[in-house]
Amino acid sequence: MPKSSKSFWPEPPVRQRVTGEIPVPTLINWLSIGAQPLLLFFAYRAAGRDDTLVPSILLTCAALLLLNALVYMMLRHETLQRRTFIVLITGLFIYLAISAVEDGSAIIWLFAYPPIIFYISTLRVGVLACAFGIVTLIGLFSPAGDYLVETPYSDSFRLVMITVLAFEMISCYILDLSRRRSQARLLTLAREYEYAAKHDAMTGLSNRREGLARLETEYERYLRNRKPFSVILMDIDVFKGVNDNYGHQAGDQLIVMVANKLKDGCRRVDMVSRWGGEEFLAVLPETQVSEAVTMANRIRQTIAAQTLAFEGLPIRTSISAGVATIHGAESTNHLLQRADEALYTAKATGRNRVCSGEVPEQDSA
Ligand code: GH3
Ligand code: MG
Ligand code: MG
Repeated sequence: MPKSSKSFWPEPPVRQRVTGEIPVPTLINWLSIGAQPLLLFFAYRAAGRDDTLVPSILLTCAALLLLNALVYMMLRHETLQRRTFIVLITGLFIYLAISAVEDGSAIIWLFAYPPIIFYISTLRVGVLACAFGIVTLIGLFSPAGDYLVETPYSDSFRLVMITVLAFEMISCYILDLSRRRSQARLLTLAREYEYAAKHDAMTGLSNRREGLARLETEYERYLRNRKPFSVILMDIDVFKGVNDNYGHQAGDQLIVMVANKLKDGCRRVDMVSRWGGEEFLAVLPETQVSEAVTMANRIRQTIAAQTLAFEGLPIRTSISAGVATIHGAESTNHLLQRADEALYTAKATGRNRVCSGEVPEQDSA
């Protein structure tokens, strides 16, 4: 079966990722794998000092981070991966602060926590995690903390650590808020541009490009399930006369009125597009020719019964329509050609009527 020719049809727009950010699951996996040599190195150094607890905790943490990455690769469960990672790194950073690994210098790794947490979680979770972190640190550095855990940090180090970490957390919050706002704005703009690329500004109907894309989608569906769909090609009758007699503004209003009647007259599953100046194409999924002709006639009658009041002057109009239903192995180009020929017949035989396209013998399945 020949596929529909796309020779003179524009390609439908390709969906692209709007922002170039690293996906959170990927970043978590990178960090989990990147943490391995660091944790192994600290564990090795601690083991060299005849310490057994620190290496075993660091190695366990390394193994759990790796396991979390592997579980994600198998299950693709983003929430589970993110939550497990947050719990693990929060525990690890608290342990680094409390246990004074590497003579207490490992506490500096706490500065890595705020940017990671803001990037991988929501702003709210980031704020809560940072607040929890700083309160824990203040508790650790307080007299009560000293009573519970013995740490080697001097008073001035404690003060600098808390103020600089709090400063970093606030900076990360502001930067992340700004990143999220820019991202939201970009997504809104992308949606607006996408809408503008697919719709006709005057009538709000889909434009020709979108009409063609929908036709292709219906055609693909037809190839799979063999349920025929129909198209109706419609054209406003003697429209040039409206422009000539009442002006372009009246013509525009008439096009909008017809477009609204088409929207109302079609089902939710159908798609109406503005095919050209005063031409429209409706794609009707899973619709046989008789049903499509009935629908086209109903729309035609509604439009013929309508009067447009333009600057106090009543303007009447009508449409002619050509209906064609996909048949056998024919292409979408051929289907449109049949609808166009049917429309031409409707015009030639007096306008304000619906004609259906004949199926050529050689195309019969
Ligand atoms: P027929 O019944 O054979 O279709 O006659 P017609 O006058 O409608 O056909 P024709 O195709 O010759 O004229 C269409 C006119 O529609 C020509 C063009 O100037 C006008 N037109 C196309 N787009 C617009 C538009 O957006 N607004 C207005 N006001 N006029 C438009
Ligand atoms: Mg016309
Ligand atoms: Mg025309």
